[in-house]
Amino acid sequence: MSVESIKKVAVIGAGTMGHGIAQVFAMAGYQVWMRDIAQEILDRAISRIKISLEKLYSKGVLREPPEAILNRIRTTLDINEACKEADLVIEAVPEKIDLKKKVFSEVDAVAPKHAILATNTSSLSITEIASATKRPDKVIGMHFFNPPVIMKLVEVIRGEKTSDETVNIIMDIAKKLGKEPVLVNKDSPGFIVNRILFALFHEALWSVDSGEHTVDEIDSAARYKAGFPMGIFELIDYIGIDITHQIFQAMIDRGVKFQIPKTFEEKAKSNELGVKSGKGYYKYPAPGVFAKPSVSIKAGVKVDIIRLVAPAINEAAMLFEEGIASKEDIDKAVKLGLNWPMGVFEYADLFGIDTVVSALEELRKVRGMEIYEPRKILKEMVERGEVGRKSGKGFYSYRVEEKKFETIIVKYEYPIAWIILNRPKKLNAINAKMLEEMEKALKEIEDNKEIKAVVFMGSGKAFCAGADVSEFKDMSGVDAFLYSRRIQKVFEIIENLTKPTIAAIHGYALGGGLELALACDLRVAASGSLLGQPEIGLGIIPGAAATQRLTRIIGEGKAKELIFLGDYIAAEDAESIGLVNKVVPPRELELEARKIGLRIAEKPALSLLIAKYVINYGKDAAESVGKVLESLGFGLARSTKDAEEGIKAFLEKRKPKFKGE
Ligand code: NAD
Repeated sequence: MSVESIKKVAVIGAGTMGHGIAQVFAMAGYQVWMRDIAQEILDRAISRIKISLEKLYSKGVLREPPEAILNRIRTTLDINEACKEADLVIEAVPEKIDLKKKVFSEVDAVAPKHAILATNTSSLSITEIASATKRPDKVIGMHFFNPPVIMKLVEVIRGEKTSDETVNIIMDIAKKLGKEPVLVNKDSPGFIVNRILFALFHEALWSVDSGEHTVDEIDSAARYKAGFPMGIFELIDYIGIDITHQIFQAMIDRGVKFQIPKTFEEKAKSNELGVKSGKGYYKYPAPGVFAKPSVSIKAGVKVDIIRLVAPAINEAAMLFEEGIASKEDIDKAVKLGLNWPMGVFEYADLFGIDTVVSALEELRKVRGMEIYEPRKILKEMVERGEVGRKSGKGFYSYRVEEKKFETIIVKYEYPIAWIILNRPKKLNAINAKMLEEMEKALKEIEDNKEIKAVVFMGSGKAFCAGADVSEFKDMSGVDAFLYSRRIQKVFEIIENLTKPTIAAIHGYALGGGLELALACDLRVAASGSLLGQPEIGLGIIPGAAATQRLTRIIGEGKAKELIFLGDYIAAEDAESIGLVNKVVPPRELELEARKIGLRIAEKPALSLLIAKYVINYGKDAAESVGKVLESLGFGLARSTKDAEEGIKAFLEKRKPKFKGE
């Protein structure tokens, strides 16, 4: 049998999914019988299909009028009539194993011998459903997403006895329907999408249950830090708290080691079930009316996004490790099925596999649950040093080159260059050698056209604790003057580098260390880090331009307070006075810097440079001159090819593609 021999299709169950699936097949030219248990359900299904087809037709999506498509769909209450000539039967009745088995045994008795029987189940075992038939080789999972007409993803699930021929035909047919099928090679609970999604739900529920975070905090982090289209609790409300509970339970019954927190158990038994009840974790305008809950960006700042998403990565790693699906299909499934901006393994590579493993080990301890045990494949990747983007290899490959100097490491993680201060035993204190090497590295970075942003970081326990005081010991006043000029000059190169610079601060940023960060365009800090200008305690004053840059960044009063008193201030306090742009949980520091770097890399490089120079040089000029500088910069930016593209893309309502020209 081949895909071409499938002409007639029967859909059993004409509810939410069934009517949509019938429409998808009819739109692709198939003859469809739709069967349900009551005429009014079938009538409602037909009218829903009609409305949808008319909408699509008015948008110009259909090649034929709605009636032509509708004419291909017939309805019946009789299972024999529906199935007797079918080449393919798709079942979409309620998610109950006994009902599904009953329907399959009935269909098996009436459908032609060659017919393939597919189930749209979300959580039940394909193998068990197939056991109700005499043709388990022809039984398969064909899991559409809601709404089937819109959602491109179809999970094709192989039961224990499903034949390759059946798998191939269903994969091909999904493509003929204009869908993007992914193959689930084993009948694994939750298949791909739900297994990963529910691992995310699980951690979010426990995080709130244990009092670590609130619903708002988690949803803010999910939306604004991870970039998911919906908050986690918002999505649970959307699916329905009772349905979410059922799917959890179905997976647990099939051996997945999730544990449902008591608070969620209780909620599933209440009458606050989400959008359909008008209230769940959020309030909605009326039962059944969804309105996007508003959550502030700020609410999620303290949530460790790597820890929140790590369990989902762990389940994805399991699917890959056990040969249930390929990594490409897993990533495709979460992008198409959940609308994630990137695949789950792309997240893993971005976060760093080592960081993901450390987050899982922490969760394993805190929650005491086996599900958090990091998967072997992740641990082995860490052992091999394949830790994602930063190492050049993770689940995918990246271009990374490393250059080791005596006091710094320069890593070209295209399109970002990392300058890592590497005197960890001295808390990365700046010495003459480091200045010399930094100058050399900056020259190389400046000349490298493929580098679009530069991050400064410290290795070990601190960003940088300042200048190496031992070098001051035998310095004359004149020597010190010249030394100060020297360090200022190198920091000026950083300040006016043609690429945006970011300081990623952890531990300490003190004295010359803070001054290095001040020379960067942006500063992000890990919570727990301390910043200060403690020179006064040595009987000296800052010498790497803090008196100037710090004053400009935080104002004279605050700058004098820091310099006169020499106090260390916490990252959060530094944020509140504008000294750092953002504070993130320690585990997220590198990720945050990487994310900013990657975002910058997508912007028009020339306009970034012009903006930087107008700001940097404009501040030294009279305001009227600064304004003229801005106008000149505006004109110059407008003359670039990227401006042509940016304006054109805006008018065409698409994302611009900048080339740095
Ligand atoms: P639904 O309740 O909207 O529809 C089920 C339909 O099946 C009802 O119209 C019911 O009358 C009918 N039915 C019951 N017994 C029948 C029988 N013996 N013969 C024919 N019809 C019968 O449910 P749904 O949301 O469409 O879900 C159907 C299946 O699809 C379930 O397995 C579910 O897990 C799965 N699924 C649902 C979604 C979703 O978002 N709703 C997404 C993917 C998969």
